[in-house]
Amino acid sequence: MSNGFDVQQAAVVGAGTMGRGIVISLASAGIPVLWLDASAPMVTAGLKMAADTWAHQVVKGRISEAQAEQNLARIRAVDSYAELADVDLVIEAVYENLELKQEIFRTLDNALKPRAILASNTSALDVDAIAAVTRRPQQVLGLHFFSPAHIMKLLEIVRAKQTSPAVLETARQLGERLGKVAVVAGNCRGFIGNRMLKTYADEARKMLLEGALAQQVDVALQAFGFAMGPFRMYDVVGVDLEWRARQLAGQGMHSPLVQVDNALCELGRFGQKAGRGYYQYAEGSREAVHDPDVDRLIVQIAEGLGYQRRTLSDEEIVERSLLALVNEGAKILEENIAANSHDVDRVYLNGYGFPAAVGGPLSWADGQGLASIQARLQRLQGTHGAHWQSAPLIARLVAAGKGFAAVQEGRV
Ligand code: NAD
Repeated sequence: MSNGFDVQQAAVVGAGTMGRGIVISLASAGIPVLWLDASAPMVTAGLKMAADTWAHQVVKGRISEAQAEQNLARIRAVDSYAELADVDLVIEAVYENLELKQEIFRTLDNALKPRAILASNTSALDVDAIAAVTRRPQQVLGLHFFSPAHIMKLLEIVRAKQTSPAVLETARQLGERLGKVAVVAGNCRGFIGNRMLKTYADEARKMLLEGALAQQVDVALQAFGFAMGPFRMYDVVGVDLEWRARQLAGQGMHSPLVQVDNALCELGRFGQKAGRGYYQYAEGSREAVHDPDVDRLIVQIAEGLGYQRRTLSDEEIVERSLLALVNEGAKILEENIAANSHDVDRVYLNGYGFPAAVGGPLSWADGQGLASIQARLQRLQGTHGAHWQSAPLIARLVAAGKGFAAVQEGRV
């Protein structure tokens, strides 16, 4: 294993939701941070949020007043890239837009000392395309924190094509220092977690059109043990995030799967923050309350798209949701995006509210037996179409009488 090096001074570019959590996480771990945003008031608001977070921790008895002061003193707002010249690591957390991130990485590459590591907190963009605009692609990687970044345990370390082993090791050590569960992921759209989430959420959206309602899907999955069903989750993160991204990209608006989301957003039902989304919320409350208007909207959209709605059982909802995760997880393993099934499970347990008692989607599948999983996928393919075709790895493992746990670096 390569030796990493100690990050003695870091910088964060971006002071929105993620930048704030990342800065709090770094400063709490004793790492001095320089903080830059195109909008100075965002940094001012970020500093206030950091101070409030630590003040709250003092009240709770988790840290002393002196520690809170030291944490805050580790953060310095700056207003030029030239001031970042000596940092060992910068984490970029600006809007999710490739051209914007490339422009910032070009600037960082010119401004920072040659040894510095450049990381992006992108949720799904191509890290190779970001690295390619720099003269130091071996020192570029993804550091994908989860929201809120100072609380969520998971850190996906995204290995780009040229990221050096020493840089990956430095990132692993940093993850440990921040108290995170760090998992190395290969570079593909959505990495491990968001790639699996997309398949799972798309299946939930299909079930809505076929005959389920949002609350039924959520309740069924929560009864299985998920911290939150997919539609509750969309309300928490904001139904509008993906809607805005679709608009910005000028694509994906017309897929039947997103018609309910589109309609909700057009009604201003952006989720919990708007008081209305898939559910309704009383002023200032996080309690999701069933809204019959949303049921009516779902039925109307599904029928408008030509669906003959039917009753779906809770068993079918859970089965299709889990098998969607397992099949995508198998592809991720096969493509060596994750080194082993344990890493896939750690991502899902620590970042996506998968029930800990079940042990993660791939260990659940191993428990069911892969021959059974394969037969169930084949059945789904017969009734619901080609997207259920099982990952070739599953057939290989069944033939070898093995489970996902036997796979290392893409090989059985
Ligand atoms: P945000 O909109 O809350 O904040 C983005 C910040 O970037 C704003 O403060 C804005 O002023 C700043 N900014 C924009 N252009 C800039 C520029 N040229 N130079 C400097 N600052 C600039 O966004 P966010 O939710 O914090 O997301 C940031 C990144 O993290 C995105 O890539 C996103 O995909 C990723 N991410 C978000 C989440 C989440 O749940 N919000 C989770 C994981 C990863």
